[in-house]
Amino acid sequence: MTARSLQGKTALVTGSTSGIGLGIALSLARQGANIVLNGFGDVEGPKAEVAAHGVKVLYHGADMSKPAEIEDLMKQAAATFGRVDILVNNAGIQHVANVESFPVEKWDAIIAINLTSAFHTTRLAMPAMKAANWGRIINVASAHGLVASAQKSAYVASKHGIVGFTKSVALETATTGVTSNAICPGWVLTPLVQKQVDARAAANGQTNEEAKNELLGEKQPSLQFTTPEELGELAVFLCSPAGNNVRGVAWQVDGGWTAQ
Ligand code: NAD
Repeated sequence: MTARSLQGKTALVTGSTSGIGLGIALSLARQGANIVLNGFGDVEGPKAEVAAHGVKVLYHGADMSKPAEIEDLMKQAAATFGRVDILVNNAGIQHVANVESFPVEKWDAIIAINLTSAFHTTRLAMPAMKAANWGRIINVASAHGLVASAQKSAYVASKHGIVGFTKSVALETATTGVTSNAICPGWVLTPLVQKQVDARAAANGQTNEEAKNELLGEKQPSLQFTTPEELGELAVFLCSPAGNNVRGVAWQVDGGWTAQ
């Protein structure tokens, strides 16, 4: 068996029971990293998929909108594996509505889960990363961290916020072995996006296929969905020695969305 590049490292991926988070967890596990999984829904399936790569897996069900639960997650990860070397802040939710009818509790939840949770995990992971003089913070932002769409005010605010947060942390750690970067996907066909496809199909009397094509056609010039596997491999690159001096970037994987 060939040496795996992340053997002996531990990666915590928030919101990794599904979609992009699971894709990133699997890519990091393929390189030998032990994985801390987090998120809701089916847990046993994702755990088995990750463990199949011959790594150790810990699951913690912290609700990422709750600081006390995040503290417990970070404590248990450190108690099990010593420290978190790779922190992937990925948990995220969406809600689509005009600003005047945007439910206040949805705004609060989106900011808490998509943005504030990354502050808590980062502040708690940082001391051990700095002490080891090695760490990787990878924030899953979005094309919506760079440009806006109508009816997504909370999401766009949270994603612009996390891009700014990524840069500040990158500057604070610039002379250390810790890096902080953001990944900005365009459309990825996960449950989060399938909900938007379903809503569009229902509203316009379209098939699933028609709604997907229209969604891509409006924003993503490649007319192809980005995949969780592609994002996972970008995370592996950012964790490699070639990523040592990649700091504070917001790296689009968006089929040309933000090039327009
Ligand atoms: P998804 O719905 O498939 O997965 C979201 C994950 O977050 C799940 O594991 C879910 O259980 C978890 N989660 C949700 N609320 C949580 C909470 N309160 N506490 C803990 N875990 C929670 O969505 P996805 O598309 O894979 O999205 C992952 C990230 O990628 C999000 O930050 C999203 O904004 C971002 N993103 C997605 C797309 C896309 O097109 N799908 C594009 C750009 C960015």
